[in-house]
Formats: sequence, structure tokens, C-alpha cells
Amino acid sequence: MKIAVYPGSFDPVTNGHIDVIERALKIFDKVIVTVGDNPEKGPTFTTEERMEMLKESTKELKNLEIDSFEGLLLDYVKSKDSKIIIRGLRAVSDFEFEFQRALMNRVVNNEIETIFIMTKENYVYLNSSIVKEMAMFGSKLNGLVPEIVEKKLREKFSKS
Ligand code: ADP
Repeated sequence: MKIAVYPGSFDPVTNGHIDVIERALKIFDKVIVTVGDNPEKGPTFTTEERMEMLKESTKELKNLEIDSFEGLLLDYVKSKDSKIIIRGLRAVSDFEFEFQRALMNRVVNNEIETIFIMTKENYVYLNSSIVKEMAMFGSKLNGLVPEIVEKKLREKFSKS
């Protein structure tokens, strides 16, 4: 059974992430989407909120698990009996960072491969920060995020 782990901040999940998840599910027997904290980005939503939004927006998908992790990703991947890390690729801007991370991970554990999945053209420009910025200024997010995320963003930014 080929199990792949798709780690990220998912703060919040966008349709770009969902597109990568759906593509991964066509290749692997099981995909584990796992929420972690990127120390360089202070999260807007708690881990629980991020997991909830992921669960709600993927509830129709089979062979998918939503989880969270702390610490070293490689240890987490091993603990899940997986040897595959999935990352999404958008533009060239993602490349250098992802390339460096994937190679570092390979130096530490040569058994674990990072596989890159390219998103649909419509989502190439999409990231969680831009979505939050638009929501903060009251813009519509039609087609960019799952419905539950749009709702949570409205709640979050109407409070502040
Ligand atoms: P991280 O902070 O770990 O980069 P993100 O939630 O920003 O977490 O992203 C998780 C993964 O999803 C990364 O591999 C990122 O490149 C990818 N990703 C994010 N947005 C998109 C998108 N619109 N299309 C494809 N991949 C994406």
C-alpha cells in the first residue's frame, strides 16, 4: 500500500491545496494531509481550526486522513509507514525553497522521496496569505477557497 504524506500550514486550506490532494489520491492508495506550523509564519487559525476546515472541505474524498504533526517531518512520515512526501508546486518562486527542503530531507533520510504535484492553472497564483488579505478587506473569494473556509474567514475578520 502506497501511503503519501502531504504536509503544510494550510492556514487556511485553499482550492489549490484541494486540487493537489485530489491529484495525489489518483496516484497513491492513501493520502495523509498533515497540519504543521511553519516557524516563519505565525498562524491565523489554530491547528484544530485548520484541521476542521480541511475535514469539512474534503469529506467526500475517500482514502484520505487529516492529521497534524509537531517536530521533524521525516520522523512523522516514518511513523505513518510512508516513504513519500507530497508538495505542491506553483510558480518558479516555490522552486528554490522546495528544492532545498527536499534535498535536505534526502540527506537526512535517503529512503523518503519528495514528489511535486503541479496545480491546475487557475490556482497558480493562489496562496493562503493572499486569500486572508482579500478576506480582511471584505473581498469575495468565489472559487478560491472551499465554502467553509470563506465562512470562517468572514467570522475571523469581522471580529477583529
Ligand atoms: P507551507 O507553509 O508548509 O509551505 P502551505 O500551506 O503554504 O504550507 O503549503 C503547503 C503545500 O501546498 C506547499 O507544498 C505549497 O507549495 C503547496 N501549495 C500551496 N498553495 C498551492 C496552490 N495554490 N497550488 C498548488 N500547491 C499549493
